[in-house]
Amino acid sequence: MTKEKIAYYGGQDNPYDVLLDEYEVGMKVSDYDPLFAGLRSRLVPLLQKITLAQETNPDPVLPEGLRFSIEAQTDFCIKVSGAMGFDFDAGRMDASTHPFSAGLWPGDTRFTTRFDELDPFSCLYAVMHETGHALYEQGLSKAFSLTPRGDAVSLGVHESQSRFWENQIGRTPAFWSIALPWFREHFPDAPDWDPATLNRIANTVSKGFIRVEADEVTYNLHVMLRYEIEKKIFNEDLPVSQLPETWNSRCLKNGSE
Ligand SMILES: [Zn+2]
Repeated sequence: MTKEKIAYYGGQDNPYDVLLDEYEVGMKVSDYDPLFAGLRSRLVPLLQKITLAQETNPDPVLPEGLRFSIEAQTDFCIKVSGAMGFDFDAGRMDASTHPFSAGLWPGDTRFTTRFDELDPFSCLYAVMHETGHALYEQGLSKAFSLTPRGDAVSLGVHESQSRFWENQIGRTPAFWSIALPWFREHFPDAPDWDPATLNRIANTVSKGFIRVEADEVTYNLHVMLRYEIEKKIFNEDLPVSQLPETWNSRCLKNGSE
């Protein structure tokens, strides 16, 4: 049905462009290909260098078996989200399998997170990411509600807000110097980490299958892999039945996912 839709939109020359346009108006394969090529040529060697360095200088890790209760994670994350400026009188936080944020209505912005009792960072960075989306929604002008001017500009701009908070703010020693007292208050059994160590744990590079859990080095490789596969589906007619095989071979080839 998506392929039929592309035909109706006149996407005969480059079908995938029709789909890209729905996410970021005006952006095309001819824009993304060179962008990703430039990123990839630097990221892949960087990842290899980091992986090699980790053999001699391993990153600090969370103590095995140490539990971070869901109640404490909830309170800690509400504290961080509130400090970022989320208005809990005009929204709420809940749990779901995959974290997301939704501006339901002017004055009602909701987001979700998920919990792993062995890893509080999974929840924290999901909350910082979704709060970034939610702040953008809460910041839209009420005067223009229910008109295009009162709506988000694009999904790309939305994502710039979430990833800015999650990574540029959240994965820095400066953030941890502010959040450390809250972390200690909510997780008194955790080791006496300093902001630099906590920040190193939060920035550990490791290959994984889950994009939203990925570090800043492998995250973009996740995005590129999905982009390449989608391009194959719509521009080269890769059958959907071959998706698992394609996914597996590309993951192993890039060593990135
Ligand atoms: Zn997002």
